[in-house]
Amino acid sequence: MGKKTGHTIYIGLGSNLDDPKAQVLRAVELLRGEKSFTRVTLSPLYHAPAWGVVNQPPFINAAARAHTVLEPEDVLDLLLGIEREMGRKRSAKWGPRCIDLDLLLYDDCIVSTERLIVPHPLLVERAFALKPLLDLSSRLKHPHTGRPLAEYLNVLEADAKRMKKA
Ligand code: ATP
Ligand code: CA
Ligand code: CA
Repeated sequence: MGKKTGHTIYIGLGSNLDDPKAQVLRAVELLRGEKSFTRVTLSPLYHAPAWGVVNQPPFINAAARAHTVLEPEDVLDLLLGIEREMGRKRSAKWGPRCIDLDLLLYDDCIVSTERLIVPHPLLVERAFALKPLLDLSSRLKHPHTGRPLAEYLNVLEADAKRMKKA
């Protein structure tokens, strides 16, 4: 790459409809197919109970790291485009979905616009997001507090224990 080496981003992936594992793997294939994303690395996949709205099928969750020169909102647009391409329908909040792609981290930047909040505001409350994220990069810190994200996962140990590698 030239003088600008780009940004490191972390994406949370989740699915609980229509063969969730295949959906997550398909989404990663699409991320790898994007010219604007390089060095796309996938975490282990996990089975995780539904969170927030619990009367729905369990999820497959994972995280991906990538490098990009795109700005955060352009990353979001790309993720929403992949969701659309995969047939995501938005029904009830936190309802079942064939694929969900959230921008968890963008370097250690803090972003807050009408369309995009980074770090993802619920990241530190979600073992299903933190655990695969820390599998990729165990020393990540929270951009707001500077504390290791591993500390936040420790607090969620009970939830983390209910996750099984897929
Ligand atoms: P949650 O955000 O609590 O995980 P969700 O993923 O089910 O819920 P969606 O319906 O997928 O929510 O997204 C709704 C909107 O959230 C998106 O259209 C997007 O504009 C906005 N959004 C804000 N911050 C982010 C982020 N960090 N990653 C993805 N979407 C975000
Ligand atoms: Ca989400
Ligand atoms: Ca989302």
